[in-house]
Amino acid sequence: MEPDSGLLACGDEGAGRMPDPPLIAERVRDLLARRDLEGKSILVTAGPTREPIDPVRYISNRSSGKMGYALAEAAGRRGARVTLVSGPTSLQVPPHVSLTLVTTADEMRAAVMQHLPHQQIVIKAAAVADFAPEKPETRKIKKSSDVEEITLRLRKTPDILAEIGKFSPKPFVIGFAAETGSLEDNARQKLLRKNADLIVANDVSDTSIGFDSDLNEVLVIDRQGVSTKIARAPKLTIANRILDLAVQQLAKRES
Ligand code: C5P
Repeated sequence: MEPDSGLLACGDEGAGRMPDPPLIAERVRDLLARRDLEGKSILVTAGPTREPIDPVRYISNRSSGKMGYALAEAAGRRGARVTLVSGPTSLQVPPHVSLTLVTTADEMRAAVMQHLPHQQIVIKAAAVADFAPEKPETRKIKKSSDVEEITLRLRKTPDILAEIGKFSPKPFVIGFAAETGSLEDNARQKLLRKNADLIVANDVSDTSIGFDSDLNEVLVIDRQGVSTKIARAPKLTIANRILDLAVQQLAKRES
């Protein structure tokens, strides 16, 4: 059998043994995937950012990174060249994905801007902290008995999505909106404010989905005002539906 002709191309055939079942499953998933993103470069951001207060404390957002990693995995399996810019998570790097790890919003911005000129699609699933301590302390802030409160001065972090929206030539941009109310209205406003092509909105007040969950349920809104509900499903399924919508819109744009 040729090394890349089928299931045994998992790296173990030289030893005369069957490859591990997880490797076989992975190869099968690849073989079954649509290859409709072949030739496309896609940048995905995922996870939270951490903004240091001192060497041991930070400000962050709740985010497991699972939705962004699912999008990176789905895009990679569909043939895209995927760059994943990720804040700190405990997730495994998906196959076919080139990973850049960052910690702060400033680092995420720098990594995104470096890769941006080569991307056809940018998906901003990261939960970027909106504010960062203006002057992080270089030494741990001591908790002395005579101090009852401290004041932290915060500065706004760069809005990376809004900056991508102004970039020329503009890639196809997908933003996320985590909302606790007026989901559709808030998401529509965000789409226009950030000049995105699609906004994926989810209601984070529903604790059975989102954040740490393996499931999600989202509303995707496009620039024509059409909203598509994607019913509760595993995040990888949701990721593939979001990519389907992006592929449809890109095809319209390119025709
Ligand atoms: O403004 P808000 O944080 O609600 O918007 C969410 C969207 O904007 C997400 O796609 C997120 O990745 C992006 N964002 C960003 N830079 C920020 C804040 C949010 O790119 N500083």
